[in-house]
Amino acid sequence: MQIKRRGLLIILSSPSGAGKSTLSRRLMEWDPSIRFSVSATTRPPRPGEVDGREYHFLDRETFERMVDEGAFLEHAEVFGNLYGTPRAPVEAAIEEGNDILFDIDWQGGQQIRNSPLSEDVVSIFVLPPSIRALEARLRKRGQDPEEVIRARMSRSRDEISHWAEYDYVLVNDDLERCSTEVETIVSAERLRRRRRPGLTEFVRSLNREFEELMG
Ligand code: ADP
Ligand code: 5GP
Repeated sequence: MQIKRRGLLIILSSPSGAGKSTLSRRLMEWDPSIRFSVSATTRPPRPGEVDGREYHFLDRETFERMVDEGAFLEHAEVFGNLYGTPRAPVEAAIEEGNDILFDIDWQGGQQIRNSPLSEDVVSIFVLPPSIRALEARLRKRGQDPEEVIRARMSRSRDEISHWAEYDYVLVNDDLERCSTEVETIVSAERLRRRRRPGLTEFVRSLNREFEELMG
């Protein structure tokens, strides 16, 4: 039975290379109704990235103007580039009862958790099975030059130090298992009583039925 509920804000963070893009993709294949929050960034597109799909690619001036206009729910600087979450699509998704997925760093996670939307947030942190595995995955992805890989590795330590701020912490050793864990978290969080305002009306209808049957 379908009971009206509020949309979830699913925050997925991890050090770069631990697998959050892969897990995000799989989560949206599992449930295509989950929307992806397309961030804005000043970093240049990587090969294969499409404007409006992975990111909205903006120049710094446009980005900073949007910050001043309050267009972002959160924003932060990562690897010398600016990243931000556009506010409007998130507010629309929650109102419509749709879930929305964020691939953002710990700074963005903190800002959203401390915003008026905190009740709607479920945060998941993904750890790599080892630092060697993390480095191997960054190299395997083959998208970044050597100096960028070194910079990402040194930032990973900082990102990992925020693990305990998240509701759930997963180790992405086996991809199948980790994907199932993410799906299990989302399934359970959707069923929380406070996220299902429709329950009050449903229980009222059960009570009316009691009256009818038993007087
Ligand atoms: P992130 O988005 O966290 O930077 P990606 O999802 O791009 O990471 O993953 C980095 C690389 O690691 C990709 O090549 C991906 O296919 C691979 N990968 C992801 N999860 C696993 C896993 N559990 N085991 C082995 N390789 C993985
Ligand atoms: P990448 O350049 O590899 O796509 O992303 C670098 C880092 O920026 C990742 O940790 C990613 O989660 C984070 N990031 C992407 N979009 C946003 C955003 O809108 N806000 C914040 N705070 N971080 C973001």
